[in-house]
Amino acid sequence: MTSRTTIPLIDERRAARSPSTALTLSPLLPLLPATGLLGDQLGRPLHDLRISVTDRCNFRCSYCMPKEVFNKDYPYLPHAALLSFEEITRLAGVFARHGVRKIRLTGGEPLLRKNLEQLVAQLAALQSVDGQPLDLTLTTNGSLLARKAQALRDAGLQRVTVSLDGLDDAVFRSMNDVDFPVRDVLTGIEAAQRAGFGPVKVNMVVKRGTNDQQILPMARHFRGTGVVLRFIEYMDVGATNGWRMDEVMPSSEVVARVNAELPLLPLSPSSLGETAARWGYARPDGTHDTAAGEIGVISSVTQAFCHDCNRARLSTEGQLYLCLFASQGHDLRSLLRSGATDAQLASAIAHIWQGRDDRYSELRASMPADSGTGARRVEMSYIGG
Ligand code: SAM
Ligand code: SF4
Ligand code: SF4
Repeated sequence: MTSRTTIPLIDERRAARSPSTALTLSPLLPLLPATGLLGDQLGRPLHDLRISVTDRCNFRCSYCMPKEVFNKDYPYLPHAALLSFEEITRLAGVFARHGVRKIRLTGGEPLLRKNLEQLVAQLAALQSVDGQPLDLTLTTNGSLLARKAQALRDAGLQRVTVSLDGLDDAVFRSMNDVDFPVRDVLTGIEAAQRAGFGPVKVNMVVKRGTNDQQILPMARHFRGTGVVLRFIEYMDVGATNGWRMDEVMPSSEVVARVNAELPLLPLSPSSLGETAARWGYARPDGTHDTAAGEIGVISSVTQAFCHDCNRARLSTEGQLYLCLFASQGHDLRSLLRSGATDAQLASAIAHIWQGRDDRYSELRASMPADSGTGARRVEMSYIGG
């Protein structure tokens, strides 16, 4: 029996609900308006909102939704628990008034949510504090993208990131653990490019000993195609994936492997709070070969970027999480459904964000070794990656 089969089934969402959110509406607290200039305890702005639209997925990636836990008995959320498109849009509008400029739809698998393009159209009509359209993007496993890319683009989605953990069909089928063929995801990526999403990004989670031999084939395949390939360090998120540090391949090693065959040079970050370090393919004279493109590495484990972390996460049922590794959320759905006004919602969000001091990844190294799989942490499929 492997360690994966011995993990007890815990409904992390029970632990995740916060009874205290109502306090943020207490008459004893000042009603804070949305100024677009919200800062947390460490001075980090609220810039980026990830919205999970479903806790379900048609894949069972072992690092995210291991089959042994996410089986037919798993208590997925009932439909009535999910935020409706109208509720999501209303909250997103309040977040935009607080300074959010970028919204990423995620999950679970977001393309499983029926009529998602309607939500995209509603969100595309929102504006940032300075009157610009929001940067609207989506992360998907790509399985349904060939069918949906054009409708999503027509609805106003600007960018798309596809997760793909290898090019070898056997490796990919085993990683998604539902025998899904790699060809169909590649077709989805091509459809996204044709629909005009640019640049399409591809995220590959690297697990040492499982798919690290796919690093170079992936780099070769996407070099010169306009797709930006990003390698993500395998993270200790959630409480079910049996994470071990020796399965993490540091980004420095990934870069060294690619560089040995396809020379790279460092590029400057494209924006503040950018999580990926960018590396361009180099010409023989050492300059950036822009036609060949670039790769990115996301070193969530070996080089924490908490000091710049400007993102909040809204779970499928409207819990606001301030960190990927949080064990507790703030219940915005109850506020919404209790009839709170937009001003009250804005004030609650302001109080919550102003109290934020999360920086899990920066503290990870100083934690006791056995705290690595934190038993009560929320699952990534629930709050979105
Ligand atoms: N289902 C969609 C997908 O796979 O793109 C969206 C949700 S998924 C939770 C978002 C991202 O989180 C994916 O790129 C996935 O590879 C990444 N992810 C999930 N578990 C992870 C882990 N333990 N470490 C690093 N990345 C992880
Ligand atoms: Fe599903 Fe995405 Fe998690 Fe894989 S990473 S199980 S595709 S939610
Ligand atoms: Fe942000 Fe938490 Fe990740 Fe640090 S550990 S980068 S605070 S989500």
